[in-house]
Amino acid sequence: MPNLSYIDGNYYDYYDSKIHINDRGYHFGDAVYEVILYNQGVFYDFDDHINRLFRSLHSIDIQFSISKKTIKLIVKNLIRLNKISFGSVYIQVSRGIADRNHTFNNLNIKPILTIITSKKHNNINNDIIGVKAITVRDNRWARPDIKTTQLLPNVLAKTKANKQGAYESIFIDDEGYVTEGSSSNIWIINKDNEIITRSIDGKILSGITRKTIAKFSKLNDLTVIENKFSKDEMLNAKEVFLTSASSFVTPITEIDNVKINEGVVGEMSIKLKTLYFKNFENL
Ligand code: PMP
Repeated sequence: MPNLSYIDGNYYDYYDSKIHINDRGYHFGDAVYEVILYNQGVFYDFDDHINRLFRSLHSIDIQFSISKKTIKLIVKNLIRLNKISFGSVYIQVSRGIADRNHTFNNLNIKPILTIITSKKHNNINNDIIGVKAITVRDNRWARPDIKTTQLLPNVLAKTKANKQGAYESIFIDDEGYVTEGSSSNIWIINKDNEIITRSIDGKILSGITRKTIAKFSKLNDLTVIENKFSKDEMLNAKEVFLTSASSFVTPITEIDNVKINEGVVGEMSIKLKTLYFKNFENL
């Protein structure tokens, strides 16, 4: 079974897919990335993901000349060559290769585009299962709105959760408010069935799935409020769920050993997951 990846203009077999030791992504996390879900001919929110990639590139001043159209072409090629029917696409752009030196002033190097596709088991129609989460202090840098590969706090937080048998770590800011998950946006539903998620205030990533869920919810006459909420509000919420390109809508039924909705997956979480996939099929 072929497993090809794209690196800087060429397609390589899995074991030959190697990056130069002086790649600045490797040295400094000087790189940005995207993850996109693919399901039998449909890319979920492809354009939004690519637009965010270009925003991230702009935010850290990486001069990148490959067009959005070319990226799409390469991604489609990989999907076809690797015979993927369901899976994810990982796109990364690093600043490029240079002798190790913090500054990139006057470096004049070419950014390196890498694209990896992963085949996954299609679990879209599986029964929705609630997951456990833990909370941790948000100790990330002050620009979590930029999607860089510099993810060590997220990596440590996710690992801590997994070691405790939980699926996700939820970051809490110094004022006791929820920011987001280590690799997801977090939502609560209150007693009035209002769907609440933190606004795009610079403290979270502007999730593409978040945006789509908010759009589909509003189109279906559900109330969406973009406002920060505290850890206490979350623990006492009617429902809690997370969103991301790879986890879609995933209900959280236990946080820090406190059961949410008595540990049962709530109706609204199920409704929103169904809405998400139904609306994509209709596009
Ligand atoms: N926040 C963080 C920190 C993430 O890593 C992710 C997943 N990339 C998200 C939110 C969700 O974003 P998206 O819906 O675009 O996958």
